[in-house]
Amino acid sequence: MGFLEGKRALITGVASSRSIAWGIAQAMRCQGADVALTYQNEVLRERVQALAEQCGCKLVLPCDVGTDHSIEAMFESLAQAWTRLDAVVHSIAFAPREELKGSFVDNTSRSGFLSAHEISSYSLAALAKHARPLMRDNGGSVITLSYLGAERAIPNYNVMGLAKASLEANVRYLAAELGADNIRVNCISSGPIRTLAASGIRDFRKMLEYTARVSPLKRNVSAEEVGNVGAFLISDLASGITGETIHVDAGFNVVGLAAV
Ligand code: NAD
Repeated sequence: MGFLEGKRALITGVASSRSIAWGIAQAMRCQGADVALTYQNEVLRERVQALAEQCGCKLVLPCDVGTDHSIEAMFESLAQAWTRLDAVVHSIAFAPREELKGSFVDNTSRSGFLSAHEISSYSLAALAKHARPLMRDNGGSVITLSYLGAERAIPNYNVMGLAKASLEANVRYLAAELGADNIRVNCISSGPIRTLAASGIRDFRKMLEYTARVSPLKRNVSAEEVGNVGAFLISDLASGITGETIHVDAGFNVVGLAAV
C-alpha cells in the first residue's frame, strides 16, 4: 500500500511526457493517490488526455491560469467530482522566449516582466485561494516548482529568476496564513531537466552539462526524482514541513567553486 492511499491531488502543468508535472503525477499514482490533471489549452488537450489514460486518471480539466474565469471554472468542475481535495501541484511557468537570452538589462521589458510574474508566481496564490475551501475540513498541501535562478544570477534565466524569487516568497506568505487551516505550502527547487519550458532558455544544454560536471552527485536529476519528493511533500510523512524550498538538484546549490 502506498503512502498516498486515499489522497486526491490536482496536478497542473502537464504538457508532455517530459514535463516535471508528469513525473510528479506518476510518483503520486505509484503511492496510491487519485490524481486530476489540467491542461492549458486545446493544443495540449489530446496529449494530456492520453497521458491521463496511461496513469489511470479520469479527471482532466482545462485551466489557463492567465484568466480568473478559467481558474474558477476549473475549480467548479473539480468540486462537482471531488468534495475534498488533499493536494495541489503548481508546475507552471512562462516568460517570453526573447527575454530568456542574452542581456538581462537590455532584454527585460515591462510586459515580459508582468507576464512572467503573473503566470509563474501570481497563479500559485490564485490556485491556493480556490483550493482552500476544498481543503478546509481535512487540511492539505500545495507544492510548486522553482529553480536556483531565484537565489543566484544565472545567465539567460533573466526575468524568470525574478519571477521564481517572487514564487518562493509567495510560498512563505501562503504557508504563514494557510497553516491555520492545516494547509502546508512548499516548493521544490529542481535542477535543470530537458522539457518544453526548458527549451525556451538559451544555452540550456550548457546548463545541463555544467550542472552534471559540478554538482556533488556528478549528474543531473530526473523528473522521477523530483516527483518522488513531491509525493513525499504532500504526504503525511512531511506533516511538519511548510514554507520550505527543498533543492532536488544533485546538490548543485551547495557548491561555491567547481573542483579543478
Ligand atoms: P513544461 O513545459 O513541461 O511545463 C510547463 C507548464 O506550464 C506547461 O504544462 C504549460 O502548459 C504550463 N503553462 C504555461 N502557461 C500557462 C498558463 N497560462 N496556464 C496554465 N498552464 C500554463 O516544463 P517543466 O520544465 O516541466 O516546467 C514545470 C515547472 O518546473 C515550471 O515552473 C518550471 O519553471 C519549473 N522548473 C523547471 C526546470 C527545468 O529545468 N525543466 C527546473 C526548475 C524548475
